[in-house]
Amino acid sequence: MTDCLFCKIVTKEIPATIVYETDRTVAFRDVNPQAPTHVLVIPKGHYENTAALAAADEGLADEVLKTAHAVAVQEGVADTGYRLVFNTGPQAGQTVFHVHGHVVGGRDLQWPPG
Ligand code: AMP
Repeated sequence: MTDCLFCKIVTKEIPATIVYETDRTVAFRDVNPQAPTHVLVIPKGHYENTAALAAADEGLADEVLKTAHAVAVQEGVADTGYRLVFNTGPQAGQTVFHVHGHVVGGRDLQWPPG
């Protein structure tokens, strides 16, 4: 999608610190980190939100989930604990409409979130 920020990160038109990549997914550091580890995991293809990802090609949502966990392992937070958050829709605060999971960890996280 030509106007999508995260599509431009996939095509490298916009720089990002990529920390992990598979054939169909990419993970990069959030530009405004909320914790010592804050990485965004996305499918390379454009899907607006979790509903679109859930309806995508077989195995893509699975691959996004596996990439998120691989990032947590790589970042050293898999054992201490981390949160995987997909803000979906305006009331959840989604601001970029290319589905992304936030991998957040490296500090104590409050529950429930705000
Ligand atoms: P959300 O509010 O769930 O849609 O999250 C969007 C996230 O994208 C926010 O945490 C932003 O800090 C992050 N973000 C926005 N622009 C960039 C960028 N160019 N590179 C990395 N992260 C970004």
